[in-house]
Amino acid sequence: MTFPPLREELRGLLPYGAPQLPIDEVPVQLNVNENPYGPSDACVADIASAVAVAAATLNRYPDREFTELRAALAAYLSGDTSASVGPEQVWAANGSNEVMLQLLQAFGGPGRLALSFAPTYSMYPEYARDTVTEWVEGRREDDFTLDLDRARALVEERRPSVVLLPSPNNPTGTALAPEAVTVLCDAVGDGLVVVDEAYGEFRRDGTPSALDLLPTHRNLVVTRTMSKAFALAGGRLGYLAAHPAICDAIRVVRLPYHLSAVTQATALAALRHAPELLARVDDLRKERDATVDWLRDRGHDVADSDANFVLFGTFADRHAVWQGLLDRGVLIREVGPSGWLRVSVGTPEEMGAFREALVHVTEEQR
Ligand code: PMP
Repeated sequence: MTFPPLREELRGLLPYGAPQLPIDEVPVQLNVNENPYGPSDACVADIASAVAVAAATLNRYPDREFTELRAALAAYLSGDTSASVGPEQVWAANGSNEVMLQLLQAFGGPGRLALSFAPTYSMYPEYARDTVTEWVEGRREDDFTLDLDRARALVEERRPSVVLLPSPNNPTGTALAPEAVTVLCDAVGDGLVVVDEAYGEFRRDGTPSALDLLPTHRNLVVTRTMSKAFALAGGRLGYLAAHPAICDAIRVVRLPYHLSAVTQATALAALRHAPELLARVDDLRKERDATVDWLRDRGHDVADSDANFVLFGTFADRHAVWQGLLDRGVLIREVGPSGWLRVSVGTPEEMGAFREALVHVTEEQR
């Protein structure tokens, strides 16, 4: 008898997660694509007073429909798209990870398939596994873009219920070509295309959001998060925009009162400070572009990035480079195709420390 009586396919597996090291031991943490800028004092005060108000009624369950938050998220999204988004088109949960798990709980399941194109976000196959959805993985091209003809052919052949398409992609930073969403929404027929825009706000000028296509594609879902551009990773608030019937369907699988009153109050307060929180996005995009240029000048291969991180390489022994950086107090991520490493974009000081450490480590290894 095996104890504990875990599902067979889960035995021996390790939980997903990057190393979390104490900040006083590793001062430069550029490994999980967080926003390096914390909220302002005014935003902190607003969150604290909103949470204090919520605390007075914590004996009651929270608003199960998170009505006020939905309206605030819809208003925010409407400012980031040529189409407008209504509250009935918005759904939210504890991080976009939970939103996507709920999507697979509702639209995946035994006998159904979920599909994406590797290299991509390593949680996707885990959502599939946990919902007993079959996982199908296509390939990206060598430059990490999608060959649309091949992608369409795979979707038409396998007929997935859910296609997961991050834009920009993690860990490569690659944005989807604008026509990709339309082509794959048509190819998938009755299935759903989920465009994961966790890093959408960092996209380069001229790259449209898939939100623009919601009015014309009822099988399109666009997921977003407050963890990255909004600097609210600790608040755990992810959300989606889609046809209202999709939001209604998710209600069937969500746990009752899944969004705590504290979470709702925190997210609403952060949304009131959206202009200030998002003002840093431009700085981060500039820092990202400068990081890409610097790495290229030093002769590294670097993936084009529309996100707040940069994938670079290639190293014969990437682990040694990762460890060398860590020994100098700089934590990045050993992820992606073999030989590549990913660095999140931090403050100018943090990026300076990263550059200095990388110069040392690569020269040592020559
Ligand atoms: N999608 C992608 C592509 C991500 O990289 C991440 C976080 N690393 C998420 C979704 C989930 O973010 P969260 O649950 O914090 O919203």
